Amino acid sequence: QKFVYDFTEGNKDLKDLLGGKGANLAEMTNLGLPVPPGFTITTEACKVYLDSGTEPVALRDEVSAHLEALEKQMGKKLGQADDPLLVSVRSGAKFSMPGMMDTVLNIGLSDASVAGLAAQAGEERFAWDSYRRLIQMFGKTVLGVDGDLFEEALDEAKRAKGVTTDVELAAADLQRLVEEFKAIVAKETGRDFPQEPREQMDLAIRAVFDSWNGDRAKLYRRQERIPGDLGTAVNICSMVFGNLGPDSGTGVAFTRDPASGHQGVYGDYLQNAQGEDVVAGIRNTVPLADLERIDKASYDQLMQIMETLETHYKDLCDIEFTIERGKLWMLQTRVGKRTAGAAFRIATQLVDQGLIDEAEALQRVTGGQLAQLMFPRFDEKAKTELLGRGIAASPGAAVGKAVFDSYTAVKWSRSGEKVILIRRETNPDDLDGMIASEGILTSRGGKTSHAAVVARGMGKTCVCGAEELEVDTKRRRMTAPGGVVIEEGEVVSIDGSTGKVYLGEVPVVPSPVVEYFEGRERGADSTDELVQAVHRMMTYADGGRRLQVRANADNAEDAARARRFGAQGIGLCRTEHMFLGERREMVERLILADTDAERDEALGALLPLQKADFVELFEAMDGLPVTVRLLDPPLHEFLPDITDLSVRVALAEARREPHENELRLLQAVHKLHEQNPMLGLRGVRLGLVIPGLFAMQVRAIAEASAERVAAGGDPRAEIMIPLVGTVQELEIVREEAERVIAEVEAATGTGLKLPLGTMIELPRAALTAGQIAEAAEFFSFGTNDLTQTVWGFSRDDVEASFFTAYLEKGIFGVSPFETIDRDGVGSLVRSAVKAGRATRPDLKLGVCGEHGGDPESVHFFHEVGLDYVSCSPFRIPVARLEAGRAAA
Ligand code: PEP
Ligand code: MG
Repeated sequence: QKFVYDFTEGNKDLKDLLGGKGANLAEMTNLGLPVPPGFTITTEACKVYLDSGTEPVALRDEVSAHLEALEKQMGKKLGQADDPLLVSVRSGAKFSMPGMMDTVLNIGLSDASVAGLAAQAGEERFAWDSYRRLIQMFGKTVLGVDGDLFEEALDEAKRAKGVTTDVELAAADLQRLVEEFKAIVAKETGRDFPQEPREQMDLAIRAVFDSWNGDRAKLYRRQERIPGDLGTAVNICSMVFGNLGPDSGTGVAFTRDPASGHQGVYGDYLQNAQGEDVVAGIRNTVPLADLERIDKASYDQLMQIMETLETHYKDLCDIEFTIERGKLWMLQTRVGKRTAGAAFRIATQLVDQGLIDEAEALQRVTGGQLAQLMFPRFDEKAKTELLGRGIAASPGAAVGKAVFDSYTAVKWSRSGEKVILIRRETNPDDLDGMIASEGILTSRGGKTSHAAVVARGMGKTCVCGAEELEVDTKRRRMTAPGGVVIEEGEVVSIDGSTGKVYLGEVPVVPSPVVEYFEGRERGADSTDELVQAVHRMMTYADGGRRLQVRANADNAEDAARARRFGAQGIGLCRTEHMFLGERREMVERLILADTDAERDEALGALLPLQKADFVELFEAMDGLPVTVRLLDPPLHEFLPDITDLSVRVALAEARREPHENELRLLQAVHKLHEQNPMLGLRGVRLGLVIPGLFAMQVRAIAEASAERVAAGGDPRAEIMIPLVGTVQELEIVREEAERVIAEVEAATGTGLKLPLGTMIELPRAALTAGQIAEAAEFFSFGTNDLTQTVWGFSRDDVEASFFTAYLEKGIFGVSPFETIDRDGVGSLVRSAVKAGRATRPDLKLGVCGEHGGDPESVHFFHEVGLDYVSCSPFRIPVARLEAGRAAA
């Protein structure tokens, strides 16, 4: 195994081994660009060190060999007294982790060589300043000395001399400072600053290895989801100096604007400065364009190199360079980070330039970036007062008056107020309030809590699980950590993209991209460059994707929006949402019915309402498939809360008021009470034990279809049965459904084509998919329940209770309710697809769990060969884009 690569040996595709910086230094070297010679120690060496606590045995000799070759090339030895070779030791992981790990410059300087450097450079001050910097950087990062001690000594030196900037210190001042710095090192570490150049280098290499596991680096990796076991490479590069006088300097540049994507000269330059001075903001930089005036030859060469890099990498590059006495050196390049908007613009610009094709352009953007572009956001320039922070559950920026119950939310919004609904957690009862609100804030629950799922479905901003905010719904107030109390009616702002909660109104700017999807802003000939770019990328994606994209929508309004957003049908209409609000009472009557007559009466009352819902929905989706799912949730969701009801009964008893109805209701609620309602009487089980329920729903679908046909429409309903575990359940429901459809056909004289299929959301259904396909014309994977039952995770509870711990321990990188668990849940999906199609080759396959709109999961569903994904209306553009990316 080889642990060290010369810059001439690597290339840009070796990022795993050489890290991003090392791989790109090698690439530039091979392109013939002026890179100071050097070599890279591999991430493999780092991994050995991190695993075993010592460097691999072969490393020392390999480093020696490469150092010797470098010394030969440079014509001087590391730390050589009369003319020292100096090197930088820089970290460089596969993924850029800016500022998270260590770097040491000027390695090789010592008491012996500082005079040699001064003589060679003809610059006394420069040599002492370099030495001062080495001891400071080395002391802090390698020896672990508190950096403030050096800073204080530096400040003191300036104060003593009556000057304000470093450059005003003369050689003698710096020489004194070096002695002071050495004394600090000796006092703090109990040893002298190492004078042996090779020892300096070896210690610096080890410090870079160690910095991989520094707190800052670990935190950054967790946030960016970078695996913890990659390790970092170490780059040893011969030093060039930008601080040798006015004909020297250092700078950073972009090959195009990382904010807009426009081509041009973007960057900053600082004369007579070294490395970190530019970013540290110690002195004012000048715009890169000014370099043309300062040093035209170097400027022209730099422009030439930037063009070479763009053409070579076929992407925006950012670079670091140094000019040493009129000679330009390239210290780093990489494909540059950019804003979401710039990613879209740059991708289309590169297509126009003929550098990449449409398929490649799709790889340059992500659904996550598109989602970012779709939400209105808070003005970044605004001043804010942070109250607390929760989970970023549904992105967006919402401002409104705090209300603590749904009733008030509805009432206030009717009178024109904008409100934020604040609850400890939400339940189906809060639906009206959620609809009426600008945004929802809860203090409990995770990303799949009721509030989060429903808010995402509605495209409404939501911050959930903000535990540090104490919500007191009784007293209608919320208390923030500092003791700040927010009373009902006070304005708060919540950011669903960051989870932050602010006091007062933070100004919001709308998204032009949503205006475009809504059809209020033109695409191809929009004057907004971003909209134009998004339009083009969507066209590429739609042109190439195999997966269809449908919407989860329960009403005509959502359906219409979904259609504008490009939905090719409805993949899940949850009919339970049609039984809330005032209709709840009818459902209550149905559940409480003692006799067939009572039950038939209740069903008879529901039928026309249900039918009217479907007529609207089929009209909105005319010509496109609409998958209607028969009633699914446990019945208790329609009944009053057991505790509330008990209190009511007890009160009535005490007051000797009539309470027959309440008592009857209470008895029914007791009877229906379940320990695990999610595993209880729900889904197809309801249809099998409540006579006439599913028949009523099927009749409503059939009659609505017939009515639409009569009106000249093209309804395409599909009937879907939830929570099926065995084919027998499905067969019974199918028989009844077919009978009802035949009746409606006969009565209306209309031939109806109503395919009947099932959700696959229980492990047993997935395992017996081959049998179930005998009775199902389509499958829709309910990956919410499937994840719940495969893992044994209660979808309503776990994210708030122990998922944080699981994420921290790295058991999974992301909640399996958010991104499909490929190995477990995914493998069941894969085998069910195979078994289902073996039974019925033309079986239609889709997914309607939350995963249908998750970028990574969309790629999985493409791979396993589903026909469509279905997701909430607002996620449709993201799913379209990702389906296009998956196919590209
Ligand atoms: C599912 O379980 O994935 C699903 C879509 O159904 P629901 O979320 O309504 O249970
Ligand atoms: Mg389900």
